[in-house]
Amino acid sequence: MSQGADGIAESFAAVVGAGNLLTGTDAGPDYSHDEALVGDPVVPRFVARPETAEQVAALLAVASSAGVPVTARGSGTGLSGAARPLPDGLVVSFEKMDSIVEIDVANQVAVVQPGVTLARLDAATAEHGLAYQVFPGEQSASLGGNVGTNAGGMRAVKYGVTRHNVLGLQAALPTGRLIRLGGKITKLSSGYDLTQLIIGSEGTLALATEVTVRLYPRLAHAATLLVPFPDLRAVTDAVPAVLRTGVDPDLLEYIDAFTLAAISAAQNLDLGVPEDVRQAAQAYLVVGLESRERDRLDADVQLLGELAESLGALDLYVLEGPSARTLIEAREKAFWMGKAAGADDVIDTVVPRAQMSGFLDRARELAGRAGAGVVGCGHAGDGNVHLAVFCPDEAVRHQLLHEIFSAAVELGGAIAGEHGLGRIKAGHYRDLEDPAVLELMSAVKRAFDPAGILNPGALLSLPDHH
Ligand SMILES: Cc1cc2nc3c(=O)[nH]c(=O)nc-3n(C[C@H](O)[C@H](O)[C@H](O)COP(=O)(O)OP(=O)(O)OC[C@H]3O[C@@H](n4cnc5c(N)ncnc54)[C@H](O)[C@@H]3O)c2cc1C
Repeated sequence: MSQGADGIAESFAAVVGAGNLLTGTDAGPDYSHDEALVGDPVVPRFVARPETAEQVAALLAVASSAGVPVTARGSGTGLSGAARPLPDGLVVSFEKMDSIVEIDVANQVAVVQPGVTLARLDAATAEHGLAYQVFPGEQSASLGGNVGTNAGGMRAVKYGVTRHNVLGLQAALPTGRLIRLGGKITKLSSGYDLTQLIIGSEGTLALATEVTVRLYPRLAHAATLLVPFPDLRAVTDAVPAVLRTGVDPDLLEYIDAFTLAAISAAQNLDLGVPEDVRQAAQAYLVVGLESRERDRLDADVQLLGELAESLGALDLYVLEGPSARTLIEAREKAFWMGKAAGADDVIDTVVPRAQMSGFLDRARELAGRAGAGVVGCGHAGDGNVHLAVFCPDEAVRHQLLHEIFSAAVELGGAIAGEHGLGRIKAGHYRDLEDPAVLELMSAVKRAFDPAGILNPGALLSLPDHH
């Protein structure tokens, strides 16, 4: 840093106002971590709470010239340590940029500031019979954070992830410029797609200051099917068969028996599954269906009932209304259950969906060999496996994760499907990715962020951006 800390603080305060600049421990513990299970909290030197896009850009200009590392923060619900700041750094918190700028019903888009939470956007779009369909399990997450991680969640099997639903961005560059990319348009064939480069870049390229997202009509009728199977392989093998029917589920999850028992007990959840079925079931498939018409929904339920029977399901329970909602809410809380049970990490590896059984067998075999345990649930329709890893020895866990991630990559998958690499998985990524790809990514990083101030150490832990 070329300026003293006091001088830098004055420069930041001149941008956002003294009341919106917190320093050191005055900022409180919230800004020192996200929800990742690994790593200690880090108190940043500065926290700024900008109120406009222009202020965000000006903060970045000051940080670039003073060489202060910057970590953007939405709601801090991330699971990869990507919103964990650096000790000498600035946190740009988007908590005060939380306006819904516009719900444009005719174009079926919403324009929001990055601090808007999913819960608020859901309530606002519901008034118009519309919905933003990206549905990660944590509704307090912000749209800016979703852009940062390319969040996915349960409805991705039908509606895609954040990158399929963001049509445009306004973004602040580390140089202090504001740019606009895309917009309320659903197709674009003009130049490199910088919107997509920024989505999933974990705050390392540019900060989103406004997000334009695609909305869909809310469909009137919905049902959730809970299908117990005698083993996990039968569940994962059922996934391609369900998708081949063309019923287009908006949710296709698997939950292993251990995890369902844990969340049922913690949430006092009675799903009406008799004791003998619970004893025999090793894993469950959860299928969400929605339709404009009741008859069509009933026909789809009937079709899946017949399919489940032919695939060896132990039974099928159709949950509607409150019990369906309770199951989904309980499934969203699986992360907290893993944490409460003492999990040492949670990973979200993705493989081609037809390779899920093979991957899970291999992960369990590797864990067994390491004297560790892996249990979980996942977005089965996307091949996205969430495993709570029980392995307290850090060195053993690091090696185990390396082997599990390598197994996923060998099957054509990737380390993280939706949580990002952050500070926790960046080293594994560096070890497993093609060096030519890493070099290109490093060049992209330098083009956006020549001073290397944006979230150093997250996503790319390359020597030149430590
Ligand atoms: C119980 C639980 C369940 C979850 N389930 C899912 C799930 O099913 N699917 C899923 O995908 N995730 C899930 N998550 C993870 C988390 O909710 C998502 O990663 C979410 O996108 C984080 O949003 P946030 O606002 O909390 O972002 P933060 O944690 O604050 O930040 C995340 C990243 O985005 C960057 N960032 C923040 N704001 C901006 C901005 N304006 N511009 C650019 N970068 C920015 C940060 O620097 C950081 O790199 C879950 C988390 C919890 C706790």
